[in-house]
Amino acid sequence: MKTFALAGNPNSGKTTLFNALTGSTAHVGNWPGVTVDKREGVYKKGSEPIAIVDLPGIYSLSPYTPEEVISRTYILEEKTGIINIVDATNLERNLYLTTQLLETDVPVIVALNMMDEVEKAGDRIDVAALEKSLGVPVVEISALKEKGIAELMKRASLMATERKGTSLFTGALKEKIDKAAEHFAEEGVASPLFHAVKLLENDELEIEKKGAKELLAAVSEGEDLEAAMADARYKYIAEHFSVAKEKAKKSEALTKSDKIDKVLTHRVWAIPIFIAVLFAIFHVTFAEDFLYIGAWASLGKGLPSLDELNLSEGMATFVGIFYDGAVFSPGVILFNIFDVLFGKITEAVGGAIATEWLSGLIADGILGGLFAVLGFLPQILMLFMWFSILEDSGYMARIAFVLDRIFRRFGLSGRSFMPMIMGFGCSVPAMINTRTLADEKERVATVRVIPFFSCGAKLPILTAIAGCIVQHFGVGNPDAITLCMYLLGMAAAIVSVLLMRSTTLKGEVPPFIMELPAYHRPRFKNLMLHLWDKTKHFVKKAFTIIFVSTVAIWLLSHLSFDWHYLADERMNESILAQIGKLIQPIFTPLGFGKQIGAYGWVFAVAAITGLIAKENVIATFGTLGACLIAIGANVGGVTADTLLADEEGITSAIAMVQATGITIPALLAFIAFNMTTIPCFAAVATAKAELGKGRFVGTLVFWLVASYIIAAVVYTIGSWWWTAFIWAAVAAVTVTLIVLRNKGKLHLRKKGACHEAA
Ligand code: GDP
Ligand code: MG
Repeated sequence: MKTFALAGNPNSGKTTLFNALTGSTAHVGNWPGVTVDKREGVYKKGSEPIAIVDLPGIYSLSPYTPEEVISRTYILEEKTGIINIVDATNLERNLYLTTQLLETDVPVIVALNMMDEVEKAGDRIDVAALEKSLGVPVVEISALKEKGIAELMKRASLMATERKGTSLFTGALKEKIDKAAEHFAEEGVASPLFHAVKLLENDELEIEKKGAKELLAAVSEGEDLEAAMADARYKYIAEHFSVAKEKAKKSEALTKSDKIDKVLTHRVWAIPIFIAVLFAIFHVTFAEDFLYIGAWASLGKGLPSLDELNLSEGMATFVGIFYDGAVFSPGVILFNIFDVLFGKITEAVGGAIATEWLSGLIADGILGGLFAVLGFLPQILMLFMWFSILEDSGYMARIAFVLDRIFRRFGLSGRSFMPMIMGFGCSVPAMINTRTLADEKERVATVRVIPFFSCGAKLPILTAIAGCIVQHFGVGNPDAITLCMYLLGMAAAIVSVLLMRSTTLKGEVPPFIMELPAYHRPRFKNLMLHLWDKTKHFVKKAFTIIFVSTVAIWLLSHLSFDWHYLADERMNESILAQIGKLIQPIFTPLGFGKQIGAYGWVFAVAAITGLIAKENVIATFGTLGACLIAIGANVGGVTADTLLADEEGITSAIAMVQATGITIPALLAFIAFNMTTIPCFAAVATAKAELGKGRFVGTLVFWLVASYIIAAVVYTIGSWWWTAFIWAAVAAVTVTLIVLRNKGKLHLRKKGACHEAA
């Protein structure tokens, strides 16, 4: 079967065309050795079936990001035909890649996409002229309207399977290129012209090769040709391809984009507008007081709470999905629907199994863990949907561009912003999203700080403990405590990035070379595909890693060292409790170690169970609270009944405080620790897949050390304010040491260079 790969700029319509071509035959896998999606399918409507491969979007064949490397390697090594998809509303910019594709020996056919837009704007493209100057077939299509696709595939299947690379360079440049190409051809390298051009362009992958530097020096005669070649390329495109457009007038889509851009990328307003957009997204997805209806009402008489409505049990469950003293946002409503559903399933399954331990294992262990994670899926999906809309419309590209200026000061590029923001929803997709980052070290730094952006699953820890501090100690305001903890996480992220980028992950931020696509109206079908792409990973992890680990934790907490089953009430005799007691002293400097007495190990255990899923932290309080009551510990006024009615975990937290006598600073340190330490298993597995083994171990150590220090700072300063001076002094010494070390290193390197020269 003939194979064609789709190559083109991001947003040029590759995925749309791919779907139109392959329909239901498409399937997704990974590229060998890397976790970047590989989509394959078959086009069956022609005279013979043709295999289609969707390549990651690229702006040029000189790669910056891992995805770009994949596309380049595929094009050069697989030797299939290439369908170069070109956004016809941005002809010149897109043809930049085309000129590079033509330098390879691979057969290329150009698909001029988005012709519907071009026509709507009243523009025409001289296809014959374009074909002549490119020397390859050009077909006008609209992937979206599925027009011209049969013609495209017919001409593709008729193409010769061999082609000789052609380049646009002339004069002295051409002579030099030809000399290098000759050398490559003699060595039997495939696509010699392409490699010659890339070598003279100082392409990183090319220079690394054996003997490349010598060849470059010989051919270029010591001259740096990179700038001259880029210049020649742009000039050629401007001269030859703008005539292809009969009217010089910009397409309507572009001018409209320019107008929108005047507002959305405004020097002053861009960021406030973006913050407003983000706020709206988070509000719709997570707010428990949608549009602040409850808050407005409380200015007057206020709305009745769910209890005050005196509904029958079934009715209360139903209304409770939408309302409790305030109207819930759509995201919360979705969450509640799943919550009720999962609750019913767990109850039914648990009740149906007579054997106590088996019912506990399946209902509490397996289903409980699985649902705890899947329960967040609706909100995470919703968040994804909003972000996909922003991405699809072209807005995200602009935001990355606007933020680039600010992020550069912290040693990151604007692109790292998206993954960080997504971290507020869930670290798993956020880490996957770092694939768009060009620089490996920047990518590692970003993955490491993503968990500091407190995810949806950590919110319950915040609500329960903040609620407990306010109710039990009568201090502060729960919202203010929660907000401060979010801010603490973000501050920790900034400081960590600054530290990493000036020590172990030093490096220049790569230049921002993203092109701004014209604004598009997002398409439903596309959106759903993006959503599915991103959900898949999440669901897969829930069903594998989380499944296994919840079973393991359940077993550890219900088995004693001599392998006897223990009921819930005897959990403090379990293997898990023994481990908790063993590691308890580690947490003493953080305020929740030895000093909180006999039952203090619950905090240690909660921290461990949090590694499975952060929801477990408060759930552990609930379970362990129940067993404390059962063995008659002093938990104040808390009884088994009030614990049962404890939806937000506040009562469980209060029971823990009563039993242990833990202080407020220690509770805050506990939150801080959980927020910044090793994230849940799913996120850890993702980090491992994204970073590779070497970086991964360092990342685990980083999370442990960072969370330990942050929690220690919170606890000590909270308990003894004057320790702030000690920490400040430690920070000052650290910064000085880093600065000195960096200067010293520079000095050494210079010396080394002198040595070599001598
Ligand atoms: P990719 O990044 O190259 O995979 O591009 P997509 O397939 O995701 O398409 C990017 C955007 O362009 C989407 O919003 C599509 O709906 C839109 N698009 C794709 N093809 C066409 C087309 O032929 N006409 C129009 N008007 N829009 C299109
Ligand atoms: Mg795509």
